[in-house]
Amino acid sequence: MTIKYVPEPFRIKMVERIKMLTREERIEKIKEAKYNLFNLKAEDVYIDLLTDSGTNAMSDYQWAGIMRGDEAYAGGRSYFNLVENAQEIFGYKYIQPVHQGRAAEKVLFPLMLTEGKIAISNMFFDTTRAHVELAGARAVDCVVKEAGNPSVRAPFKGNMDVERLEKIINEHGKEKVGLIVMTITNNSAGGQPVSVKNIREVSAIAKKYGIPLCIDAARYAENAYFIKQREEEFKNKSIKEIIKEVFSYADAFTMSAKKDAIVNMGGLIGIKESAELYQKIKANTICFEGFTTYGGLSGRELESLAIGLTEGLDENYLRYRIGQIEYLASILDDHGIAYQAPVGGHGLFIDAQAMFPHIPYNEFPGQALAIELYIEAGIRSCDIGSYMLGNDPDTKEQLKSEFEFTRLAIPRRVYTQAHFDIMADALIEIKKRAASVNGYRITWEPPVLRHFQASLEPINK
Ligand SMILES: *Cc1c(COP(=O)(O)O)cnc(C)c1O
Repeated sequence: MTIKYVPEPFRIKMVERIKMLTREERIEKIKEAKYNLFNLKAEDVYIDLLTDSGTNAMSDYQWAGIMRGDEAYAGGRSYFNLVENAQEIFGYKYIQPVHQGRAAEKVLFPLMLTEGKIAISNMFFDTTRAHVELAGARAVDCVVKEAGNPSVRAPFKGNMDVERLEKIINEHGKEKVGLIVMTITNNSAGGQPVSVKNIREVSAIAKKYGIPLCIDAARYAENAYFIKQREEEFKNKSIKEIIKEVFSYADAFTMSAKKDAIVNMGGLIGIKESAELYQKIKANTICFEGFTTYGGLSGRELESLAIGLTEGLDENYLRYRIGQIEYLASILDDHGIAYQAPVGGHGLFIDAQAMFPHIPYNEFPGQALAIELYIEAGIRSCDIGSYMLGNDPDTKEQLKSEFEFTRLAIPRRVYTQAHFDIMADALIEIKKRAASVNGYRITWEPPVLRHFQASLEPINK
C-alpha cells in the first residue's frame, strides 16, 4: 500500500525552469551521448537523479552566508566559522576543508597507504577505491552478505562483515593493512546504513591490530537518522548525540560535503587527535588544494558549508528526506518492482538484474535500465553495478559486481511529490516491456573510473 508523502518542512522562494523533450528527441540525444548518461546535456534532462552530490538546494540562510563569506586568503572568518562548527559536531580536534570528497582522499590516503598495502572497507565508493589504487595499494570490500541480496530486508545492510574483516587482516598480516574505511551510509551497497554496534566492533578490531580507522562520512547525517529509527539503544538520542558517538570510534574521516552538508561544492578531513598527522595533511593540502584556511574553496563556500552542516542535522528535514524515498518505494512494492530494501538514505537502488534477467552482468543491466528511464520520461540515473565497477587492475578482465543496480539518487530539497510519481510511472511502464530491452557493449573506455567517460552501443540480438 502506498504510504503518505511526508510534507516538505520548507516553502519555495525561488524556482528554476526545466525543459521537457519528446520521446523521439530523447532517443536521438542518448544515441548522440553514446549511451553514457554523463555525456547528456543537463538541459536535455527533465528529472536529474544522476547524483545527490552537489545538486542540493541551499536555504535562504545559506545564500545569506554566500554574501557574508570572507574572501581573505589566510585566516578568513568563514574558515573559523566552519572549523568551529565541525569541531563541535564531530568532536575532532583538527578539521581541514578541501574542495570535495575525493580531494580529501587524495590528501589523506597516501599518508597511510603505499605499494603492497591493502585497505579494507565495508565497501569503497568508486573515487575512494581509485585513490587507494593511485597510492599503490589494493582495495578490499568486506560488506555483510545480506547487502548482496536486494530482497532480504535487514536494518543495517551497509555493515562490515566483522568476521571476514578479521580473517582478511590475518591472511595478509596486520602490517600490510594500512587502513580500514567505514563508509556511512554505504553508498555502493545502496545507501544502506551502518549500525553503532558494527562501528564499535570494527573499531575494536582496528585497535587490536593497530590499524587506523577512517570514516568515509558523506552521508553521516542520514546514517544517524537510520540509527535512531532502527537501533533500539539510540531511539531517544538526538541526531547530534548519535553522530558524536559514531565518530568517537574512528581516528579520522574524509567527507564529501556535497551530500549531507547540503552545499554544491566542498569537502572535509577530520583528524581526531594526531597533531603529527594533521601537520602532514596541511602540507599535502597546500600542494593540492591551496592554503590551509581555504582548502580549494572560496570564503563564501566555506560560509555556506558551515551553515549547511547544521541544517543537515535537523530531524524534521531528515524525516522528510527519507520519507520521500520510502514513498516512492511503497509504490514500487505495489507493482512488484525490486529494489535494495529497505530503502537507503539518498536514493532508490532498483534491482536491474531482477527487472532484466535476460541481460548478463557483462552487458550491464543497470546501465540498460538507466538508458530506458531517460527514453521513457527524461529521467537521468546511473548504473551501480558491473558497468561502474570496471576491470580488474591486474588481469584487466571485467569484474562481476555483487549486484546490478540502477540508482535514482535524490537531490536534497529539490523535487516534489509529483516528480516522484513520474519516477514510479516510468518504472512501471519499463517493467511492462522489460523482455524487449537489450544489453550494451563498451566501444571505448579510459583506464580508471571508466563509467564517467566510456562510449557504449546497444547489442542487438
Ligand atoms: C561522493 C562520495 C565520495 C567522493 O566525494 P566527491 O565530493 O564526489 O569527490 C566519496 N565517498 C562517498 C561514500 C561518496 O558518496
